[in-house]
Amino acid sequence: MKLMVIGCGGVATVAIHKCCENPVFTEILIASRTKSKCDALAEKLAPKTQAKLTTATVDADSKDSLVKLMSEYKPHTVLNVALPYQDLTIMDACLECGANYVDTANYEAEDTDDPEWRAIYEKRCKEKGFTAYFDYSWQWAYDEKFKAAGLTALLGTGFDPGVTSVYTAYAQKHYFDEIHYIDILDCNGGDHGYPFATNFNPEINLREVSANGSYWENGHWVETKPMEIKREYNFDGVGMKDMYLLHHEEIESLAKNIPNVKRIRFFMTFGQSYLTHMNCLQNVGMLNTTPIMFEGKEIVPIKFLKALLPDPASLGPRTKGKTNIGCIFRGIKDGKERNIYIYNICDHEESYKETGAQAVSYTTGVPAMIGTAMVAGGTWKGAGVFNVEEFDPDPYMEALNKYGLPWQVSENPVLVE
Ligand code: NDP
Repeated sequence: MKLMVIGCGGVATVAIHKCCENPVFTEILIASRTKSKCDALAEKLAPKTQAKLTTATVDADSKDSLVKLMSEYKPHTVLNVALPYQDLTIMDACLECGANYVDTANYEAEDTDDPEWRAIYEKRCKEKGFTAYFDYSWQWAYDEKFKAAGLTALLGTGFDPGVTSVYTAYAQKHYFDEIHYIDILDCNGGDHGYPFATNFNPEINLREVSANGSYWENGHWVETKPMEIKREYNFDGVGMKDMYLLHHEEIESLAKNIPNVKRIRFFMTFGQSYLTHMNCLQNVGMLNTTPIMFEGKEIVPIKFLKALLPDPASLGPRTKGKTNIGCIFRGIKDGKERNIYIYNICDHEESYKETGAQAVSYTTGVPAMIGTAMVAGGTWKGAGVFNVEEFDPDPYMEALNKYGLPWQVSENPVLVE
């Protein structure tokens, strides 16, 4: 099966490593903006895999550039591990070239000052009640087109969204008649030794964290100020951490796909140093996405900041400690209340030893490969646009154990108040 991977950053590095271990992928084209990165990765992996690896340059912001490459290569499936800004151009190119589409993050506009985008965004904020720049409406709107083309688009197969959504489908299938409460807990206990750095693309990460929080309750969104809701939790393998409620994209799809759910919240851990730096950068305008003139040249503050911060890929060899990501479910089974916690613990140093990337990229890249394999191998079939929780979770859960992200179930978890 011919796979085309777009992007060659931290997540792509892990996903491609893992694709090389899975015999379903016989040919892999690594295509990204900077071809030298693709060449270096292909050279490193070629001696260890049966898959035929090739590389190319592509501008994923341009449908023409994508269509040109895809019509030459003719991929069965395209894995988008570039940036969320490119989701729609890549989906358009897949439709034009007859390829299935897989990604790990929902569409986000790069230029949030574009008046056409802003008008749609503001209408959505009013109708739905959350103000995040990203949401699923743009990609769900492709459902009819993928159905008509007989192609599959699988959205959000990273860890969160991705594994957290598959955990939910698994809990629904094996542990509950009805799930009423879902708390998604994302803990990174890793230490890279820098006072401030982001574990994945700084622009995407800082936009997400500095935005308002929100959660789903009784059929509607409740929005909070950034970092307004704080809890402490003692994570297995990591220890006690402060965590904060954020808006997160899988809340939107789980609210749609899990019947009877009453509340869905998402918490992520942050240390004090990270928050102090982020607040300061925000206060001075360094997180702004609107271009400003500086010494006769137009610059976007957050892009300039990205150039100053450590490259997330460079954190790998320095990061020690573990991540623990999972979901606590509360609901009903056979008329009785039940609580279940499903989670994974991943070690930064072991991830780096295996793939050259730390655990944040590892925990995203492994499920990116697994979701792609589900589509490419025909285990998950269907024409249209899907989120991962809409398919049978069992083969995906088995693959998580096989490919490096084993999960555990606790039947008596400490709950988050
Ligand atoms: P990186 O910034 O490390 O990598 C992005 C890659 O995409 C780079 O190789 C970059 O090229 C390439 N790229 C960017 N723009 C273009 C373009 N216009 N054309 C072609 N290639 C382009 O990001 P990550 O690997 O950290 O993240 C990848 C994706 O994974 C993101 O969408 C992110 O949101 C998502 N993610 C999902 C998570 C989940 O759990 N679901 C968690 C973490 C991340 P270049 O090398 O030239 O910069």
